[in-house]
Amino acid sequence: MRTARTNTVAKPKTAAERKARVDRILAELDKLYPNAACALHHHNAWQLLVATILSAQCTDERVNKVTPGLFAKYPEIADFAAVSQEELANDIRSTGFFNNKAKSVTGAARKVINDFHGEIPRTMEEMLTIPGAARKTANVVLGTAYGIASGVVVDTHVQRIANRLDLTKNQDPVKIEQDLMKTIPRERWILFSHQVIHFGRNICVARKPKCGECPLNSVCYAKDKAGPSME
Ligand code: SF4
Repeated sequence: MRTARTNTVAKPKTAAERKARVDRILAELDKLYPNAACALHHHNAWQLLVATILSAQCTDERVNKVTPGLFAKYPEIADFAAVSQEELANDIRSTGFFNNKAKSVTGAARKVINDFHGEIPRTMEEMLTIPGAARKTANVVLGTAYGIASGVVVDTHVQRIANRLDLTKNQDPVKIEQDLMKTIPRERWILFSHQVIHFGRNICVARKPKCGECPLNSVCYAKDKAGPSME
């Protein structure tokens, strides 16, 4: 099967056109995923932090299979602070990179207990002092657990789609986040991340994006946009 390139969509030229295009993108994402939410199962901010650390280089689906048993075995943060790194690594083995993740989780538990009275903090600055919590993890926890818009979660889907939709020209997640924070209204930061992650899993997938069924097709001029089938 051959595909034809149809990158004939005009790029916005003025600030007003750029804003109208972003508004259109946000409106279409709202129609697609009005209630998009974090896919990692959790009951509190601590559990979400653990699940997010475990989700690095791992699917949310697999993390959701591991965490029920994990949180049953270690119901409190203190239980995670007390367990040996070796034992925890064994418990989370199936999520991959288990030694590093176990080190992060036990280190995070001890940090939260020692420095934050056992409560996950509510600022980016404090979150970044916790082992295993870089900006992406901190944004997930602050946004989903507390509703605090500290930034935009930039995972692999957001990274790819922000580039395809020309919302950034950067590849570095921190720079992409800065670009998105300038372009996307703050009140949309939390929902936008969830929506784009869903969009990246279902439509604008990494290989062979489903451009034929994409509601953003008319505003997308991505280089790897797929045209209509020439079969
Ligand atoms: S699915 Fe295709 S048309 Fe839609 S945003 Fe992705 S690359 Fe563009």
